[in-house]
Amino acid sequence: MQSIDPFIRQCQEIIGTDYVYISDADKEPYLIDWGKRFVGSAKAVLKPKSTQEVAALVKLCQTHDISIVPQGGNTGLCGGATPDNSGNSVVISTARLNAIRNIDLENSAITVEAGVILSHAQEASVAAGKLFPLSLAAEGSCTIGGNLATNAGGIQVLHYGNMRDLTLGLEVVTPSGEIFNGLRSLRKDNTGYALKDLYVGSEGTLGIITAATLKLYPLPRSKATALVGLTSIESAIEFIELSRVACNANLTAFELISTRALSLIPKTTKNFDSLLNTASGWAVLLEFSSMEDGVKSQSHMETLLSEAFESDLITDAIIANSIQQSKDLWSIRESIPEAQLRLGTIIKHDISLPISALPSFIASTGMQLEKHYPNAHTIIFGHLGDGNLHYNLAPNSPELSGWIEENRTSINQLIHDEVYRYSGSFSAEHGIGQSKKDELPLRKSVVEIELMRTIKKALDPKNIMNPGKIL
Ligand code: FAD
Repeated sequence: MQSIDPFIRQCQEIIGTDYVYISDADKEPYLIDWGKRFVGSAKAVLKPKSTQEVAALVKLCQTHDISIVPQGGNTGLCGGATPDNSGNSVVISTARLNAIRNIDLENSAITVEAGVILSHAQEASVAAGKLFPLSLAAEGSCTIGGNLATNAGGIQVLHYGNMRDLTLGLEVVTPSGEIFNGLRSLRKDNTGYALKDLYVGSEGTLGIITAATLKLYPLPRSKATALVGLTSIESAIEFIELSRVACNANLTAFELISTRALSLIPKTTKNFDSLLNTASGWAVLLEFSSMEDGVKSQSHMETLLSEAFESDLITDAIIANSIQQSKDLWSIRESIPEAQLRLGTIIKHDISLPISALPSFIASTGMQLEKHYPNAHTIIFGHLGDGNLHYNLAPNSPELSGWIEENRTSINQLIHDEVYRYSGSFSAEHGIGQSKKDELPLRKSVVEIELMRTIKKALDPKNIMNPGKIL
């Protein structure tokens, strides 16, 4: 009979045999990323149920010099949750850290464990009469811990902010296995370094987030949603400004979608043919949230759109007349990330730019790509309200996937050089993970990189937390 590795046996003693996956079949889904670009190996996949169990596992890994890859919903887009190929790692999955610990209505706060699925946190908040506003297409499977570790953004950042802005307090297991309990619901707390801000966006390299206290907001009474065709990309900039000031409601989403991206969604189910013919090639999905009733919100939207028509900013519009129609419009936007995968290998970019620079960036980068990579075309969509574009390049036919993959590095360089020429960032909301690690030192100053290395070395001198990610 084969003897069990002492490390594995001790893991089993801490969390129970059922939650230590060691067979290839059990481990397989945890060793490949969502985009199927990164594959790794691991000694085991561990599924602790409590913060204390996480802490005990981390201490054990320290003793045995085994590195740890934290994993939530595994929807990250930079390979951050995939181990390397050394086989000297464990994946610690937060799937069983899934309790909603507390909803504090008077302080407008919710405390959830790291493995709570984002949509479950949203639903629990709604059931308590409040809104947790983080919203993104992967919300049915990504987790609060992953959202925190990547400082996730999504579609409502322009009004409510990103995950960092929504975080009041954190509970973290440090790389040495200590529990840092910072679960506070204070809006003001200037007591030294803001440790929670260090952990938000740290992609599992500084510790394992086990729980968080997050901000809740009043539930809007109504929403108004519309998908509109733009007269030009430049109009988008004027249109967002008009939308911000137009009416007595909050502009909570403003998503840019190229008609090329729209054309990937099956037309049979959605009635948006007219927008596909928008001459400029650009559409916007916008949404207001309001404390007024639905009739008033709808009329605000109509007033805004007629003003935009008169100002020659938009050409066409579909206004949702029911909650179902609004959901249908959103499902168009949310289907794009998956729909584009049918085109073959996609070179994805998650960039941000000053909003004013977007039209010039799009024009100049598009021209250069056409010149150097005529066998590819762009699929552009994104959170225009935050200056954040998913600026993706697809091969003209799936058979050209090999060709586009061979050119990945030079395509990235061309696009990111343009991004920096316009004072932007090459990673707006998805993080660095392993896919953008090599480029980070080229895009950040030596001083910034050294500060990051100093922090990492101080907190994790043995480099056991998610090695090979970010730095
Ligand atoms: P994972 O993929 O499991 O992990 C991501 C990173 O966080 C890894 O580095 C991992 O090690 C670390 N990590 C996970 N849990 C913890 C923890 N408890 N403690 C410490 N580190 C941890 N992102 C956006 O920001 N905006 C979008 O609009 C958006 N849209 C998306 C749409 C689709 C269809 C998909 C597939 C992804 C999208 N993403 C978006 C990216 C992704 O959903 C987010 O990055 C999400 O926040 C990741 O959560 P997760 O639980 O899946 O994390």
